[in-house]
Amino acid sequence: MAKSGIVYHPDYLRHETGNHPENKKRLIVTMDFLKQKGVLDKPQIKLFSPEKTPVEVVAMNHSMQYIEQVEDMCRRGGGMLDPDTVVSAESFEVALRAVGGALLAAEKIRTREVDNSFALVRPPGHHATYGHGHGFCIFNNIAILAKYMLKNWGLKRILIIDFDAHHGNGTQDSFYDSPNVLYFSLQQWGIYPGSGWYQEIGEKEGKGYTVNVPLPWGTDDESYLFALQELLPPIADQYHPEFILVSAGFDAHYSDMLTNMSISSVGHGKIMETILDVAKQKCNGKVAVLLEGGYNLNAIPRSIYNVISHMADLGELLDDEQPKSDQRTREEVKRLVDEIKKTLKPYWKF
Ligand SMILES: [Zn+2]
Repeated sequence: MAKSGIVYHPDYLRHETGNHPENKKRLIVTMDFLKQKGVLDKPQIKLFSPEKTPVEVVAMNHSMQYIEQVEDMCRRGGGMLDPDTVVSAESFEVALRAVGGALLAAEKIRTREVDNSFALVRPPGHHATYGHGHGFCIFNNIAILAKYMLKNWGLKRILIIDFDAHHGNGTQDSFYDSPNVLYFSLQQWGIYPGSGWYQEIGEKEGKGYTVNVPLPWGTDDESYLFALQELLPPIADQYHPEFILVSAGFDAHYSDMLTNMSISSVGHGKIMETILDVAKQKCNGKVAVLLEGGYNLNAIPRSIYNVISHMADLGELLDDEQPKSDQRTREEVKRLVDEIKKTLKPYWKF
């Protein structure tokens, strides 16, 4: 039975965003649900409490000018980093602790206290770029973590899988010219932030080490898992990742108000099952999962439960009804997978 860590801190609720879709209720309902389901009492689950990460670590992926801009804005009581991205008085400190949560999630796997881990952090991170906060994200938790692992642990091949419904443009930017991090991202095509087309495959030495799967509106579990299973295992098999990091956003759920995908909570569990299979074969099951988006308060806890259920072998999955893709969408996904394979042929065998 796999041992799983859950990383959480009550200060994650102190990043005040009001009625913004990315608000503290997302974590309140999730933690309440996990407690109600007895997840935190399971012998194979350990709860870890993170520290704030030092600014020097954040600076591995962000300019000091930007870091100071966020700190100043908070000192003045808050403001907006872009039209979507709220910061309040304590957001800087909370964002440092979100990075700390990411670091702790990976550290507990490195020291073998757990096999895998899930950091229930906010603010999310995958849209944050070197010099800017974007799309509800302040610091790019997963990119900072990957840079930390490359530098401090001497790793050479980290696989980041991003299944948030939005493209992780910030994470892609951070590693676009690097073969040391393979960024594999599935997203709804045509929504924020507008990047993530399948021809975006990296540059210079990083060519072939960015994989984008821009899925059509209405993609359901079956089509999504088809695309994931056709592309991820063969690439991972050839890349030989030493560690897998996951940007887990739950906004591809059919009930999410910001997107138009048709993934169910069971589907979110199956996505994780596929990732765990790859991890078991390639890197002793080492997977650190970081929360990104997901805005329907009924759906997030159930999807997260199903993900943890696969990670920690809880033996139960929560079902939900889900709209199915129409024939046209299913065929479009098949064509897309063929196009991606053709585009990546110089780099990977399928
Ligand atoms: Zn998202």
